[in-house]
Amino acid sequence: MVDIFTPAERSRIMALVRSKDTAPERVVRTLVHRMGFRFRLHKRSLPGSPDLVFAGRKRVIFVHGCFWHCHTCAAFRVPSTNRAFWKRKLTGNAERDRRSIGRLRRAGWRVMVIWECQTSPRRLDRLAGRIARFFSE
Ligand SMILES: [Zn+2]
Repeated sequence: MVDIFTPAERSRIMALVRSKDTAPERVVRTLVHRMGFRFRLHKRSLPGSPDLVFAGRKRVIFVHGCFWHCHTCAAFRVPSTNRAFWKRKLTGNAERDRRSIGRLRRAGWRVMVIWECQTSPRRLDRLAGRIARFFSE
């Protein structure tokens, strides 16, 4: 894949990814911004309040935490205490996500979900590639 970042930009993004208090959402916002796409945050009038809204391009991006949104990945595990409670709560979240995405798509929006585990430094290039495809399709 073509490297879309200058070395300086890359090191800034990597520093951001590495910094301890960085939420995955901040990584995605920075990445998308550097790729030249402008967006609004948390547009509450839309189903599920998407994290990034690109109104002119009719696209939204959700940045989901693997735990709270039940990602089927190594980072997700139902806590061993209060298992039934957590299972109900977390599957409820995932169900709500599915409904929101369905409503957005039916209203003509293109929807991308980025998972927390996909924002790690070693997966940044792959993520940038996915974002570029999302905007070109
Ligand atoms: Zn995950």
